[in-house]
Amino acid sequence: MRSISVLGATGSIGASTLDLVRRNRDAWRVVALTANCQAEELARLAIEFGAELAVVADEACLPLLRDSLAGTGIEALGGPIALVEAAARPVDLTLAAIVGCAGLAPTMAAIEQGRVVALANKEALVSAGEVMTAAVARHGTTLLPVDSEHNAIFQCLSGNDLGNVRSITLTASGGPFRDWSAEQLAAATPAQAVKHPNWDMGAKISVDSATMFNKGLELIEAHHLFPVALEQLRIIVHPQSVVHSMVEYRDGSTLAQLGPSDMRVPIASCLAYPARMDTPCAPLDLAALGELTFRAPDEVRFPATRLAREAAGAGGAMPAVLNAANEIAVAAFLSGHIAFTRIAVMVEQVLERYAPAPPVSLGDVLAVDAEARAQARALLEFA
Ligand code: NDP
Repeated sequence: MRSISVLGATGSIGASTLDLVRRNRDAWRVVALTANCQAEELARLAIEFGAELAVVADEACLPLLRDSLAGTGIEALGGPIALVEAAARPVDLTLAAIVGCAGLAPTMAAIEQGRVVALANKEALVSAGEVMTAAVARHGTTLLPVDSEHNAIFQCLSGNDLGNVRSITLTASGGPFRDWSAEQLAAATPAQAVKHPNWDMGAKISVDSATMFNKGLELIEAHHLFPVALEQLRIIVHPQSVVHSMVEYRDGSTLAQLGPSDMRVPIASCLAYPARMDTPCAPLDLAALGELTFRAPDEVRFPATRLAREAAGAGGAMPAVLNAANEIAVAAFLSGHIAFTRIAVMVEQVLERYAPAPPVSLGDVLAVDAEARAQARALLEFA
């Protein structure tokens, strides 16, 4: 039996992870489950899985969590420090699935355990970059990518030397607006943006998928996970989301990983790593799919991948600035304050105005993140 903590247990990735744990109850002992403020749902999960500890990041939600767990013997804690403490509790595997840079400090605490961290929380790696990869190396941690593209690349690289790689291609569904005109994009609503054609995901990543910032963040994530030159990292639009990414080798061989659009597949590969486990996902039926199509991304209608490539090229703090500005812009779009097309404009404006020194510690990264958010909020006020 292995022990597991799920950070972001009430989210979409949390639900997929716990679904796999539920189907293999004898294999896992659940230690900590966390959420932001969905206290009742968190309590329900903590009771179902017999967790030792449940934590809400938002301290205002702690009384409800305590009430919901009364008499169960499950410890209930609240606040950002408790979140980090929960992530630091020793476990064999931590599933890091908080959304946004809010997941950075707990993810770092999990990494410092020196065990296995399965990372879905891409914003944490994008923001912290070398600060996180250095901690992974320092603590001898195994970092497994949950993101379907990076999980695919990880699988395609298995047993191969990175020095033999010619290029790595991330596939992108193109999101719900991939065929929309610039005029249509300017009028896109939050309800339309969160309706992804292939994947069922949380609101923030769904908007990122619609703007293509998701692919931009993934480009930066890939740059850290698989250290090849930035020019060797490519993006291709593949509307069916069946090929999850590809690695081309110097001899002309290209290896791709295919699978259904269900996050339980990459999550299962992390949970069972280096072995394999069953999932309830229906096998791919390529004959029924008929055809798989590919096209180049359009960086005029969707400037996010250009901005991300530029931020990755600049390095240092710039990916953290890009991520923070994007988080503020996405929240402003979801709450109806700005137009869809303003998200990329705002991110570019913050990147032009704020170029801090490269962070060397977690504290530095969090400071950059806070200031970039402040700059993005200031742009909203003067809109
Ligand atoms: P969701 O919005 O569905 O879930 C987010 C989780 O994080 C919830 O448990 C939420 O708690 C918690 N949370 C939110 N804000 C905070 C905070 N400030 N502090 C602590 N916890 C917080 O997101 P997803 O599951 O879709 O995505 C999670 C991560 O995985 C993201 O980084 C995303 O990019 C990545 N990812 C997601 C994929 C997907 O298919 N969904 C695919 C690949 C990567 P509460 O419920 O209380 O709000």
